[in-house]
Amino acid sequence: MSSTDGERGVPAPRGFSTRAIRAASRAPRVDQRPTTVPIYLAATFATADADELAEVSSLRVPGYSYSRIGNPTVSALADAVAELEGAPAAFALASGMGAVHAALVSLLRAGDRIVATRAVYGSTRSLLTSVLAPFGVEVAFVDATDHDAVGAALAASPTRVLYAESIANPTTTVVDHVALSELAHRHGARYVVDNTFASPYVCRPLELGADLVVESATKYLSGHSDVMAGVVSGPRALIDEVRRVQIDTGATLGPLAAFLVLRGIQTLAVRMERHAATALALAAWLERQEGVERVRYPGLPGHPQYAVAARQFRVGGGMLAFELAGDRSVGPAFIDALSVPELTASLGSVHTMVVHPPTTSHRQLDDAGLAEAGIGPGLLRCSVGLEDLDDLIDDFGRALGVVRAARAAGTPATAAAATAIP
Ligand SMILES: *Cc1c(COP(=O)(O)O)cnc(C)c1O
Repeated sequence: MSSTDGERGVPAPRGFSTRAIRAASRAPRVDQRPTTVPIYLAATFATADADELAEVSSLRVPGYSYSRIGNPTVSALADAVAELEGAPAAFALASGMGAVHAALVSLLRAGDRIVATRAVYGSTRSLLTSVLAPFGVEVAFVDATDHDAVGAALAASPTRVLYAESIANPTTTVVDHVALSELAHRHGARYVVDNTFASPYVCRPLELGADLVVESATKYLSGHSDVMAGVVSGPRALIDEVRRVQIDTGATLGPLAAFLVLRGIQTLAVRMERHAATALALAAWLERQEGVERVRYPGLPGHPQYAVAARQFRVGGGMLAFELAGDRSVGPAFIDALSVPELTASLGSVHTMVVHPPTTSHRQLDDAGLAEAGIGPGLLRCSVGLEDLDDLIDDFGRALGVVRAARAAGTPATAAAATAIP
């Protein structure tokens, strides 16, 4: 060890603890650029002097001081997503819900009104009705595919935000971003889109008129079910507000998680092409099966918004929904008869995942409530993974056979325990 301590030329400390801390935190100087983004696993960044620290931590000059305010690996992720969304700026957060929350809180104040699609992600609905409404935000839900209803809701009272999702859970309903952004702007509202079910490879809402777009990077962006993250993209001024909210609320993304999302993004295009090709083939096969009453896939001509999807989407995506004949017990029985998918409730992963909304995410609704939401008792939502198509078809075919046999024998399909669904 040299006799002086680093660049400041002061005498080296002699005590063991001081030496251990200094010795183990000396970052190597690297002149060669690594071909992956380094994981800056640091909460704090040192500055040359007290003045620079004050400038950097008050955001007056670019740089890093404290990782809740900014971290190089996390910034690299935000910049990558901004580029893919076609956005001037983006900000990455600890989860998709952290991103939805920061995006909405950056725009809404007490007394403001938000009009949101009725088919909104479950936690986003709770955020609106259980978290934001008690703070004085007025919330109205509307069928976002009914443009007259959206226009009426926006006209009814001054509205700050119109909120929709590119592909709705669980029915795969597709909204028309061009029409909705025009409606929002005509009424002085911002149009905010959750694009998680599509991913920026499939759809880029900012290019279609949206003001902010949110992705749960836990899903397709990372793609392997091994990390949680969220990103908000949009114009610089709006993203600065999102950042301000995050700094004071703390949904801070860790650098290791950001690295994993960056690694996932490098294969997003090839994964989405394969997800979509397999989903399209599986959907077309399902349409021909006995016991399957209806198949919903944005890339199939029979989908109610096929024309909108064809205009807005590069491919049909990896999410499909299908309806089995029978009551609420057939969905869990079908799932229990499958062996290829992982028995879990997320989406956008290498693994195929099948869920039964009527006994999980939408279990609080009775059959009439389900019907109103466009959900039949036998509806299954499938996030089509990257397994071989033939294996999925064999597996789904076998499970359909089990369900048909149970129905023919008049025995109720297994009442699988309802599991909590994210
Ligand atoms: C998963 C998901 C979220 C929430 O993302 P997390 O990363 O789980 O917090 C929000 N919106 C949609 C559409 C999702 O699928």
